[in-house]
Amino acid sequence: MTLLLHNSLSGQKEEFTPYDAKNVRMYVCGPTVYNRPHIGNARAVVVYDVLFRLLRKIYGENHVTYVRNITDVDDKINAQAKENGEPIAQLTQRVTQWFHEDMAALGNLKPSKEPKATQHIKEIIELIEHIIKNGHAYEAEKHVLFDVNSVGQIGDYYYGKLSGKKLEDLIAGARVEVEKYKRNAGDFVLWKPSKEDEPGWDSPWGRGRPGWHIECSAMSTKYLGNDFDIHGGGADLKFPHHENEIAQSCCGNSLSSFSNYWIHNGFLTVNGEKMSKSLGNFITVHDLLERV
Ligand SMILES: [Zn+2]
Repeated sequence: MTLLLHNSLSGQKEEFTPYDAKNVRMYVCGPTVYNRPHIGNARAVVVYDVLFRLLRKIYGENHVTYVRNITDVDDKINAQAKENGEPIAQLTQRVTQWFHEDMAALGNLKPSKEPKATQHIKEIIELIEHIIKNGHAYEAEKHVLFDVNSVGQIGDYYYGKLSGKKLEDLIAGARVEVEKYKRNAGDFVLWKPSKEDEPGWDSPWGRGRPGWHIECSAMSTKYLGNDFDIHGGGADLKFPHHENEIAQSCCGNSLSSFSNYWIHNGFLTVNGEKMSKSLGNFITVHDLLERV
């Protein structure tokens, strides 16, 4: 059977050929656990569940590894915990459980592995150290920043290839206020300092926490190896999240590519607008299932 996938990296439909048919490897960006999932969030889970089932059908149930992470350290989580007046860990544990219950109620299979960011701080710090050592990141005011201008050409990849963004525009960062510690507007945070009341871990750069993107580079490599077959996520993650994942992984692990096929699912829309927490036009999976 021929499986065709739309690869965002090439912009083309391509025939899927795994590196190793005995172990087909897929990584998908999972939820940030601060609120009960809505059906727009669930769409991504269902899309990759369908692909996971299809791969299992083609290559065999024991020959597909599907890793989907849980982001349990994030500023949105900190803000929500503060608003609720509850400890961060209590919030993330409860929402993770809701996520599991709601996705199971929709009939999704569990991924093979579901790593949490807070349990991989060691791997994250090690990867940041590699990126610095290879000359692609710098420390400034207790932050570690990725230097987008340093990427250059890596095999077929250059910064902006996945998202179609132009490096010159990102560096210039026209009309946006840029933090003084950044060399270029497009440089992004790998590590940042934590205040007393924020979650933090000791690191070579002081007590702090990872930026959002680095966790997926660290965890995908840990569970799937340096290069793997499929990386998935919502279309809104193409930039900056996925572009930055490729740059970090290639520059930190001295790779010429990172994931062979990049797949993006579309949004669930309500009256033409994306269903999102911030727009308030959402229905939670739980509420929807209560109605039926
Ligand atoms: Zn991710």
